[in-house]
Amino acid sequence: MNAAVIVAAGRGTRMGMACNKVLCPLCGEPVIVHTVRAFSRTGLFDGGIVVVAGEPEVEEMRAMLLRAGLRAHVVPGGEDRQQSVYNGIQACDPRADRIAIHDGARPLVTRDVIERTLESARQYGSGVAAVTLKDTVKQVNAAGVVTGTPRREALRAVQTPQTFDAGLIRRAHECGREGERATDDAALVERLGHAVHLTEGDVENIKLTTPEDMLLARQVILKRKEQEENEEPTGMRIGHGYDVHRLAEGRKLILCGVEVPYAQGLLGHSDADVALHALMDALLGAAALGDIGMHFPDTDPAYQGADSGKLLDHVVRLLEEKGYAVNNVDLTIICQRPKLRDYIERMRRNVAGHLHLDAGCVNVKATTTEKLGFEGEGLGISCHAVALVKSRRP
Ligand code: MG
Repeated sequence: MNAAVIVAAGRGTRMGMACNKVLCPLCGEPVIVHTVRAFSRTGLFDGGIVVVAGEPEVEEMRAMLLRAGLRAHVVPGGEDRQQSVYNGIQACDPRADRIAIHDGARPLVTRDVIERTLESARQYGSGVAAVTLKDTVKQVNAAGVVTGTPRREALRAVQTPQTFDAGLIRRAHECGREGERATDDAALVERLGHAVHLTEGDVENIKLTTPEDMLLARQVILKRKEQEENEEPTGMRIGHGYDVHRLAEGRKLILCGVEVPYAQGLLGHSDADVALHALMDALLGAAALGDIGMHFPDTDPAYQGADSGKLLDHVVRLLEEKGYAVNNVDLTIICQRPKLRDYIERMRRNVAGHLHLDAGCVNVKATTTEKLGFEGEGLGISCHAVALVKSRRP
């Protein structure tokens, strides 16, 4: 199980702004939203994402991420970076095997960079993104006179993520609470005498520090968007899903992962979330991966009372593995009673979170059948879903 700690408690004094630089807009969204989405859309963090925010910004950041349909646990930071990372680690799922620590101000991190650090941490206990240097580095004395020229081949510029075995990084931070403050997490692990392994970073994975960096970041995002559009002129696939569940007494009514208060709920082997079931079938259909009955048989006791959100996360991972990314989805819930209007927005955001999408790519609607048919008579609820997915690989 992998968890991530994204540190966003800095002040951004070099950005020449009074506010935290991770809250600054970048191509229409705050920097932190880009960063959290980069992690969320990998689907690799089943142990959750913890964002460490400056104490006064915790609520604002929570609201920002929620609006963007991103699920992350926001906790307050400490006096300095090291203390903030420590707080983040403390808030991670105790069952996590690996923890990836990342700067909130590095929104351009790619899936490949993240994956390489995770793989190295799995194999060696550590994986730290790094790049070779383009410039020659000089050692100088206090007067600015050169005292040495280290061999450039033996030097690396270190980025984040810095990913570690969870036990190792917890130990390193416990020990690091005494003595000198470290500028990165790898340094704390080095102090324990543990070898730190570097993995290939990316020159585009810059840390936004000055206003010029923001300009550069904008260019990188525009370039990636253009590449994405050029790559996939014919790679779109559509899928449809349909499901029905019977209404019964003594059951919770769960639709799109949201509990709707009602005297009856849907009957089924799992939580009977008819909307997420239809959605999963639409996604599997688009990728030609069969249907949910094949992947989660209702004869398997493992799925007794299962949270359909968890099953949806599994389906999303299956699609990712096959190189598909979801473009947009549309759901129609057919339900005479109860009225769903007040719950639609929460359902939509919840689905967006599972799919690692903006809420703008998810639509949920409800309709009655004018009291006709089984839905109209209140015997059950049905749902149709369509999904458009794009192929990441040509
Ligand atoms: Mg079903």
